[in-house]
Amino acid sequence: MKDYYELLGIPRNASEAEIKKAFRGLALKYHPDRNPDNKESEETFKEINEAYSVLSDSEKRSHYDRFGTAEGMGAGFGAFTGAGFGDIFEDIFGDFFGTFSGQRRQRPAKGNDLRYDLDITLEESAFGTEKDIEVPRWENCSSCKGSGSQPGKSPVTCSNCKGTGQVRFQQGFFSVSKTCGSCRGTGKIITDPCTSCTGNGRIKTVRNISVKIPHGVDAGSRLRMSGEGEPGSYGGPPGDLYIVIDIAEHPVFMRRGNDIYCGVTITYPQAVLGAEIEVPTLDGSTRLRIPPGTSSEKAFHLKGRGIHKLGGHGKGDEVVVVSIEVPKHVTPRQRELLEEYAQLSGDKTSKTFKEKIKDILTGAEN
Ligand SMILES: [Zn+2]
Ligand SMILES: [Zn+2]
Repeated sequence: MKDYYELLGIPRNASEAEIKKAFRGLALKYHPDRNPDNKESEETFKEINEAYSVLSDSEKRSHYDRFGTAEGMGAGFGAFTGAGFGDIFEDIFGDFFGTFSGQRRQRPAKGNDLRYDLDITLEESAFGTEKDIEVPRWENCSSCKGSGSQPGKSPVTCSNCKGTGQVRFQQGFFSVSKTCGSCRGTGKIITDPCTSCTGNGRIKTVRNISVKIPHGVDAGSRLRMSGEGEPGSYGGPPGDLYIVIDIAEHPVFMRRGNDIYCGVTITYPQAVLGAEIEVPTLDGSTRLRIPPGTSSEKAFHLKGRGIHKLGGHGKGDEVVVVSIEVPKHVTPRQRELLEEYAQLSGDKTSKTFKEKIKDILTGAEN
């Protein structure tokens, strides 16, 4: 087994940059594209790749330094073919990798993700719902199945680049390549364009999609619909569709987490004597007992009358906050009774009131 440092022609204390530089030089020299049908340089090329993949990884390198082998560091050292191989190259050369392979731009690519903003009501968020939405998106043309050619016709291989999608030219020492202008890198030329999509292979369509909204979603919740985005290219999977939820303002309820709040008014006699009143809920109404002596702004919790927990069990509460209504107009009879009431309780109330003012002025607690 050859020594990785010797293979790359670098000292054992070489820096990361030195390793990269040495590999880059050797890779250019021994690349199969520059040495067609040369078994020996192909072997060397594989060896320097192996050396680089170990020495460029600090963990693998220190293991190699200690044990003189990369074995026991997991599988994959021998397999420098396929996608992993290309990844090492992209890592080092970036776009320069185009020099070596015309196939690069035709790798399967996932389609674009799409976003759809959906407004729902508070009730729909509480109980869940199903919505039909219309999503504009590109789809592969059904007439030509995305090929862009008329049925029965096939694209022909681009003569300019011989199907590689790249054209090469000499620039100083290097043979450089760029995307073929005739076929725009696809390697194929459409001679008889499909009439439905004018050779594009894709058509802008509006798709009707039924969305199940689970109970408990809140404003800002994102629902992912796998595969409902735009189609992928070169056999890649389609993108995803993200439904972003917004909840319309409710005339009665306000939502905080899984609890909902509402305000109701009661009369002064109801507050003093107690009463049973009807309060709205998300699914109709219910009776609420107001105990005697209830003060304004008192909150009553109706357990489990709030919103389902998203993806979990249980529900939030409905919180009813009461306020005491002060009538703007009273009838003469009501006035008479109120004046009588005031006379009966007046002394006591005014005393407490005076005491309170005194407390505030003297800076006492309360
Ligand atoms: Zn078509
Ligand atoms: Zn071409």
